[in-house]
Amino acid sequence: MKNLNLKNNDFWDRVRKDLKLELGLDIFKNWIEVLVFTDIEDNTAYFNVPSSFIANWVERNYGDKIIEAFNNKGILIKKLSFDYNNNDFPLASKVDKIDTVNYTKNLKVKNYKEKNNIELPSSPLDQRFTFERFVVGKPNELAHAAAKRVSESGPVTFNPLFLYGGVGLGKTHLMHAIAWQIKMTNPKSRMLYLSAEQFMYRFVQALRFKDMYSFKEIFRSVDILMVDDVQFIAGKESTQDEFFHTFNALVEQGKQIVISGDREPGEIDGLEERIKSRLAWGLVVDLHPTDYELRLGILQSKVEIQSKLHPGIRINHGILEFLAHRISSNVRVLEGSLTRLYAYASLVGRSIDIDMAQECLTDILRISERKVTIEEIIRKVSDHYNLRMSDMISARRSRIISRPRQLAMFLAKNLTSKSLPEIGRRFGGRDHTTVIHAVKKIEELKNKDLHIAEEVEILRRMLEA
Ligand code: ADP
Ligand code: MG
Repeated sequence: MKNLNLKNNDFWDRVRKDLKLELGLDIFKNWIEVLVFTDIEDNTAYFNVPSSFIANWVERNYGDKIIEAFNNKGILIKKLSFDYNNNDFPLASKVDKIDTVNYTKNLKVKNYKEKNNIELPSSPLDQRFTFERFVVGKPNELAHAAAKRVSESGPVTFNPLFLYGGVGLGKTHLMHAIAWQIKMTNPKSRMLYLSAEQFMYRFVQALRFKDMYSFKEIFRSVDILMVDDVQFIAGKESTQDEFFHTFNALVEQGKQIVISGDREPGEIDGLEERIKSRLAWGLVVDLHPTDYELRLGILQSKVEIQSKLHPGIRINHGILEFLAHRISSNVRVLEGSLTRLYAYASLVGRSIDIDMAQECLTDILRISERKVTIEEIIRKVSDHYNLRMSDMISARRSRIISRPRQLAMFLAKNLTSKSLPEIGRRFGGRDHTTVIHAVKKIEELKNKDLHIAEEVEILRRMLEA
């Protein structure tokens, strides 16, 4: 072969023009323009490329076309060779060009040289969602312990960790806590946290901009992948498919995966069986609905934070008990109520008491109003003590009946929003002072008799369930 002065880029320019026509502008800009032609030797064309994934992609998808284009210009090329280990790749200009065609729209590639330098498209982490700020109680202790274990980044003992539970029970908080912990103890670890929705969004972008290669490369390069609210991809077939492959690739490499969902894997409708069973492979733990103690604990910890923000504002302790009783659904709502109370108090310059809470939180209290009825309370309590319901509303005063009756009144006061006279009426037409007496009596007993305290709690749980 003649020496064609192949180092002259004019020549490569002419080959490129043909490729532009052949492949179209989009592909050309994404994949051909980034190639830096360097040499030809032994029927091999040499290029510098920004990264291994570009090399692979170009070779697989456009290799034949490039060879053909050379051959059409009278240069016999049989092979292409890509070098992505050269340091002086003219990065900036190339990356900018790529960016202008939205190629890596949401992905800032700082340095192509090594995949470990690719910035991960992690979602922002909430400063407040740390382990220190997570209040542990019976309903969430297992989930907490599992999350802690994962964050210790020792050997992977269960994969994936699947956290599930209803809205506002702390799934996202725990995932962020894992992320913060890992960032602190193991800053080099490549951790990617995002919602399933974000996962889908990125997947669709990658399809749209024909950039699956880097999508895959990114998701397969992480040490720990956390996907929040996986139920979002239920029914979305191709996203699920990609998720499945990502999942498998990472598990095979022994990388940790943490997933959250709003219910058990097996119960997420529209999720493929193979994914359900994969998700159930590791450790599946649920965050149970909060109980009264946990709610109180959470409120106390939030009060500490709020009182630093509002040093002048006093809060009655009874308020926390009131809120913990009345707002049982969702920790987010519980927190929100407290925040609102503080904001309101600082506005009107008052301390926070029950009246203010009633006034300021009417909407929340109304929604959270228990569905528990006095009827139900009477039924449950009489069942529990093997009494007849009629005994509860009878005039009989023997201890064996009167104590459970008092307990039922106490529960009626605490679990319903019925007034004292109304409660009295429903218990066989008793006076409201009888109800007050009953409530006081049980409160007193609860404090000195562990057994009674337990009974109350058991009944409360049964009624709240
Ligand atoms: P989920 O993701 O399960 O819907 P989040 O993690 O977003 O719930 O929690 C909702 C709110 O409640 C957050 O502000 C979170 O900090 C708070 N929260 C939930 N559980 C706890 C807990 N055990 N201790 C402290 N805060 C909690
Ligand atoms: Mg969440």
